[in-house]
Amino acid sequence: MNAAPDNRATYDYIVVGSGAGGAPAAARLAEQGFKVLVFEQGEDRESRFVDVPLLAGYASLDPAAATGYYVQHYADPKRARRDFKYDEENGGILYPRGTGRIGGSTQVNVMVWVRADDADWDDYARVTSNNFWNARNMRRILQLIERTEYRPVLKVLDRIGRLLGIRALCNRRGHGFRGYVETTRAPITLVFKDMQILKIVARTIVYSLRFGDQLKRLLSFWDPNDDRTQRTEGLALTPVTITRQGRRSSVRRRLLDVREKYPERLTIRSGATVRDIVLNEKNEAAGVRYKLRDGTEHVEPVGREVFLAAGAFETPAILMRSGIGPAKEFEREEIRRAGLKLRVDRPGVGEYLHDRYEISVINEMKRDFSLLDGVKFDADPTDRHYAEWLQNGRGIYATNGVVIAFQMKSDPALPDPDLYIFCLPCAIRGYEKDYFRKAIAKKNLCTWLVLYENKGDKTGTVSLNGKDPTAQPEINFRYHAEDQGAPDAARAMLAGMKAAREVVKSYKDLVRNEVLPGDHIQSDEALRDFIEFQSWGHHANGSARMGCAGDDQAVVDGDLKVIGAHGIRVSDASVFPHTPGSFIVSAVVQVGEAAAIKAIAEARGQDALAVLDMLAKQA
Ligand SMILES: Cc1cc2nc3c(=O)[nH]c(=O)nc-3n(C[C@H](O)[C@H](O)[C@H](O)COP(=O)(O)OP(=O)(O)OC[C@H]3O[C@@H](n4cnc5c(N)ncnc54)[C@H](O)[C@@H]3O)c2cc1C
Repeated sequence: MNAAPDNRATYDYIVVGSGAGGAPAAARLAEQGFKVLVFEQGEDRESRFVDVPLLAGYASLDPAAATGYYVQHYADPKRARRDFKYDEENGGILYPRGTGRIGGSTQVNVMVWVRADDADWDDYARVTSNNFWNARNMRRILQLIERTEYRPVLKVLDRIGRLLGIRALCNRRGHGFRGYVETTRAPITLVFKDMQILKIVARTIVYSLRFGDQLKRLLSFWDPNDDRTQRTEGLALTPVTITRQGRRSSVRRRLLDVREKYPERLTIRSGATVRDIVLNEKNEAAGVRYKLRDGTEHVEPVGREVFLAAGAFETPAILMRSGIGPAKEFEREEIRRAGLKLRVDRPGVGEYLHDRYEISVINEMKRDFSLLDGVKFDADPTDRHYAEWLQNGRGIYATNGVVIAFQMKSDPALPDPDLYIFCLPCAIRGYEKDYFRKAIAKKNLCTWLVLYENKGDKTGTVSLNGKDPTAQPEINFRYHAEDQGAPDAARAMLAGMKAAREVVKSYKDLVRNEVLPGDHIQSDEALRDFIEFQSWGHHANGSARMGCAGDDQAVVDGDLKVIGAHGIRVSDASVFPHTPGSFIVSAVVQVGEAAAIKAIAEARGQDALAVLDMLAKQA
């Protein structure tokens, strides 16, 4: 918070970005009585794909909801071009981001909701020397967010517990039941409509029996978000943010609901792109400079604080345009010429960018999947499956396509699984123009996606665009630590690919051939090469990472405040010191809530845990 809140400002808090990290923070602050302004660059146009779970792929390519960034996976152009997804015309690899609608990337993501590992949070608590981040507290925050609908017994117990005041019955197994993100799982009945899929599921179940802890998995109904499945390997029935009515659930609804309830406290200015934060002579945030679609520029004064939640690419860019970043960035000729001056030297801004890695094993089946019979993959009411979804929110269009999954450790010595491996009845090989149309072009293709948490390779960068520092920043992931020879990711992913191939072997009578990497790629060396050049991701994080005040590479402290400036917090995927779990979005929403809790505590002179207690009682 600034030393003295500016009484001339209309808003106590300005939140930049309405995505997974921004929306929950803004909603919580407004609900707690503060005046909040949200800047969202998207114009919040309608998209016919966003609400239809099966068409999430099209949503991620729809200009109404998303922007394609073109990023580098490698600094070396020769290496970069070895990836078949490299787009010569745009000079990089497509990286979709939700930038069109309120809700940001939660409007285009694939809706998988798997919580981060407890070990991740405990590690963030250690890195920041701030115990607020420990797994226990973060689970309580998750319970404010979740509305778990797929564990009916636990839900009933929660109701009874609340009715009778028996706390032990509430929020069982780590779940929340009264929050704003609704989670469900695809109905198992769908599997019985397709004998091929039934066989794949059955064989995956058999394969997964080799992992220990079967009982824990069984007792949790194969729920990767159940406390009992922490640290265990085995089968997973994947939770998704899809409502019981078969629609996308996200932080968007939360923000709009709070605005409806408290219109005098919460203002959303969409179609407003933030350029920078205006700092006063004491490096306090005085206002936010933004541009409207008509080209006019304005500055909005801020009362207490600015929350930066523009995502892992744009948050560091806004910091740099505000004069907060690595001194070397400001020595670049083109940045000097643009008039940008260093105010706070934070070498970690735009550094440590990284991603969870994905790689595919794709097979062509001998026959089409009968489940897809007649499915047009379009929002077309003449498609009987789509009509069913329109009418009662059921059927294949109400799913995101994930059939079955398992979690495993790439090395048995690891304490936690680092691989999440799941099956989809289409061909996903990463992002390229028209990737979704290609994925569904045939109905006999089947992908095993191998997701690797990657807590090691963190050498990517976000830097200001040399041609125009207000344009999309330059992004280079330096995959697989590029020239630093980090073998861990490739080794782990190789174990995952081998496991996927092993499962496929168990139903080989159904399979015509392997399309990717292809039957001809068999040796470990060739597979590692494939992994190195064909991996991809969409969980960018770490570009303004947390740390303790003494860590000169940290950008924000354990309270998420930008070190060296005043009145700026970061509340998005930029802050993670390493990727949380296999799926990031629940952790980003938790960060949004945590940032709001910290700010509320500070404004009221309370302890953050006391605020968390109060919110838990109100829930
Ligand atoms: C195609 C795709 C599929 C995914 N699938 C999954 C999944 O199944 N499960 C999962 O866990 N994760 C998934 N993710 C990742 C997850 O959705 C994101 O990591 C998460 O939403 C990031 O949250 P954020 O708040 O950091 O950024 P975002 O949610 O991207 O929000 C940033 C917001 O800031 C706005 N903004 C940016 N710059 C400015 C500016 N200058 N001025 C004003 N506003 C600005 C943007 O328009 C956007 O609304 C997926 C992502 C994509 C793209």
